[in-house]
Amino acid sequence: MMITIDGSQGEGGGQVLRSSLALSLVTGRPFTIANIRAGRKKPGLMRQHLTAVNAATEVGRAKATGASLHSTELTFEPGEVHPGEYHFAVGTAGSATLVLQTVLPALLCAPGPSTLRLEGGTHNPWAPPFDFLVKTFLPLVNRMGPTVEATLVRPGFYPAGGGEFRVTVTPVGNPVGHGGPTPPGKTTGGTPVPQRPTLRCGLEPIELLERGKLRRTRAKAMVAHLPLSIAHRELRLIGRKLSLKDRDLKSVELMNSRGPGNIVTIEVECENLTEVFTGFGQRQVPAETVAEKAVQQARRYLSKDVAVGEYLADQLLIPLALAGGGAFHTLGLSRHAQTNIEVIERFLDVRFEIDKESPPGCVVRVSR
Ligand code: AMP
Repeated sequence: MMITIDGSQGEGGGQVLRSSLALSLVTGRPFTIANIRAGRKKPGLMRQHLTAVNAATEVGRAKATGASLHSTELTFEPGEVHPGEYHFAVGTAGSATLVLQTVLPALLCAPGPSTLRLEGGTHNPWAPPFDFLVKTFLPLVNRMGPTVEATLVRPGFYPAGGGEFRVTVTPVGNPVGHGGPTPPGKTTGGTPVPQRPTLRCGLEPIELLERGKLRRTRAKAMVAHLPLSIAHRELRLIGRKLSLKDRDLKSVELMNSRGPGNIVTIEVECENLTEVFTGFGQRQVPAETVAEKAVQQARRYLSKDVAVGEYLADQLLIPLALAGGGAFHTLGLSRHAQTNIEVIERFLDVRFEIDKESPPGCVVRVSR
């Protein structure tokens, strides 16, 4: 049965669309979405979202109606998910990591390995920067069983874009159509069984209730086609504010980027996970302000005894839902994450419990 999604619900951004695409592929359930990104200044499908729709269409041999630039409505009918070799190019500086976010869940559940070549922005504000993907998100996905590896070929910054990274996905290695999250309809009664069984992911639930001992805090400032002094100024501020030693401060000059760019990351390595906080360089914004933004996020995290930061909380929801279990302790769920939960619950027969009796913040627990 067709699921109807209102793209303006909750936070009203691209996540509603991306999560719907991802879960439609996994469950085989078609959906129709109206008011796409109604909560954004430029609503509808931007190039980056259209690339995500096209990528999902290709991976899932799907039929998509309304897949055009600025479209605010889309109907998506998935076929069978095919692992294999794919190349997706956003064509602008739009985020290529968000294209990965759309197709990764299905490829994690696919009956064979895949290799992806993704082109577009790799370090965009409002999207997971490549470094976050590699250091924070993917190691946790891998802890759930599969092997996902990502390699940066070339960074892509706004506005020039032109970035590229490669990803290999080796699922846990199960045939299609057995087990995995309970297909919607089987337990709820009344809801028709989907056209094909939910893909089996074989993902193991994980619990991130404590970050564990702080092992090391490091900062890296990267510049492309900009003076290296920008990176030095950023690192000076971070070193001072977080009392870091020189050996934990690294500046990198990126030579192969198509256009100028600057980002600074603060990597907080703990026993149970590594969090990455990012400041994005922008024209007219002093290097110290860029660095300060990353410092504020890192300090907020370090000052509270929680395991999972705001963005990671958001991104762990789908993998845990697919595993049908797991839990994490975080500062509090953003509106973005809450909206994501609402969308997930439309596709999968899972329950999210938010236990607010765990100060500071809350424990999010997923169960079938
Ligand atoms: P949306 O704004 O709905 O298009 O979704 C943005 C996505 O990017 C979400 O999955 C966020 O968790 C993620 N995101 C945004 N900023 C960052 C950041 N600085 N670090 C990691 N992930 C981010």
